[in-house]
Formats: sequence, C-alpha cells, structure tokens
Amino acid sequence: PDWPHEGVIRFQSVSAAYSPTSHPVLNDLSFTVKAGTKVAICGRTGSGKSSTLAALLRLIDLRIVRQDLRSKLITLPQEPFYYHASIRDNLDVRGQFSTEELLDILEVVGMREVIDKKGGLDAMANADVLSHGQSQLLCLARAILRPNKILILDEATSSVDKKTEEKMVDIIREKFQDRTVISVAHNLNTIMDYDEVIVLEAGRIIEQGKPLAL
Ligand code: ATP
Ligand code: MG
Repeated sequence: PDWPHEGVIRFQSVSAAYSPTSHPVLNDLSFTVKAGTKVAICGRTGSGKSSTLAALLRLIDLRIVRQDLRSKLITLPQEPFYYHASIRDNLDVRGQFSTEELLDILEVVGMREVIDKKGGLDAMANADVLSHGQSQLLCLARAILRPNKILILDEATSSVDKKTEEKMVDIIREKFQDRTVISVAHNLNTIMDYDEVIVLEAGRIIEQGKPLAL
C-alpha cells in the first residue's frame, strides 16, 4: 500500500500466499481506505480477513521503519496479548498517564472493578486470571490511550457477550470518531455506520460498498 499521507491506505492488486509453494490466500485485492474513514472486512471463516490485515501490516512494515509504524497504527488482534508487565504498564506503555487517568479508562471499558479484585493496576497482567473477553476489553483500553491514527481490529469483540459487544462498539465509535478504523467484523449490526464494507470469499472481494447497500 501507499503509505499514509494523512492516513490513506491503498491496496492495489494485492495477492499473497503463506509460502512460495502454497495457493494464494489473497487474490488480487484492491481497495482504498481514506483518512478518517471506517472500513469493515467481512466474510466467512477462512475467507482471508485476518490474512488481509496481516498483509497490510507486513507491507507497511516493508516501507517504513518500525518506530514509525508503531506511532501510526494500533491493532486489536483476534488474540489479545499482554506484555509481561503490570496492568499499569500494559495500559500505559510509555508511562505518560496518572493513576487517576488509568482508572478512568478502566471505568470506561467496564473493567475497573475486575482489576481492583485482581490486585489493582500494579498486579501483573496475566491472561490466565482474566477471561478472553476481559482481555479484549483491556486491549481496547490500551488502544484508547494511544492517540494513533489508524485502528486495526480483528474480531476484537469476539469473546464478549452481546451487551458488552454493543458497549465496545459504542466506545470505538465515540473514542475513534476522527480516526481511521479498519475492522474485521462478523456481526453486520456493529458496522452499519461504517463508510465501506468489503466482503471476502476465498481471498477475493465479492462485494464492496456502503453497509446499507449490501
Ligand atoms: P476467521 O473468520 O476464521 O478468522 P479469516 O477470514 O480471518 O477466518 P484467514 O485466517 O485469513 O481467514 O485465513 C485465510 C486462509 O489462509 C485459510 O485458508 C487459512 O487456512 C489460511 N491461513 C491462515 N493463516 C495461515 C498460516 N499461518 N499459514 C498457512 N495458511 C494460513
Ligand atoms: Mg481471522
């Protein structure tokens, strides 16, 4: 992709395979994500959604240095991850927020009480003592705290209940209003206000347009 001037991403006939000898999992994908717009990638399991995001990250990676990449994007992956560090350091990688601010953000994502019970901000982040959904909420809190330009989500709400999912969608809508968002989504209800939906099947785009038109 052309690396963002003002956050534009342009995929032009991108094909990709996981190894030189295997079949391509992405076939001739073309799409543009303009700055500040929200694009959803839909499709059945195995259609190439995560691979599209991986290709995006990989291609960007080839063009610009990592440091720069980090400051331009933040990802909420299918599998939430932690640094081997405290909850505090996981939320606030650069140590720029006060305890008060961090507790506020936990409140926003509905995790303040849970974290209190697990020993507070200075307890180790530990995937074993948090549910998958709770981990996704913590990753969302981390994303909100990073004023990055482009948010990339892969099934970031896959493990939470319907009510929590609606809440996460609302939070993303509000907190990422002016930012570019690229989101893999299973549930069309969560992306009705997006600017564009791309539907994949077997690594190809089979539909592309406004959510209401599809
Ligand atoms: P899901 O909804 O289940 O997350 P997806 O749309 O994200 O599916 P991908 O993970 O992109 O699908 O997979 C697309 C194709 O690429 C599938 O055929 C899958 O088997 C293959 N694939 C995915 N990851 C790898 C990998 N690491 N090595 C080889 N093939 C892979
Ligand atoms: Mg996937």
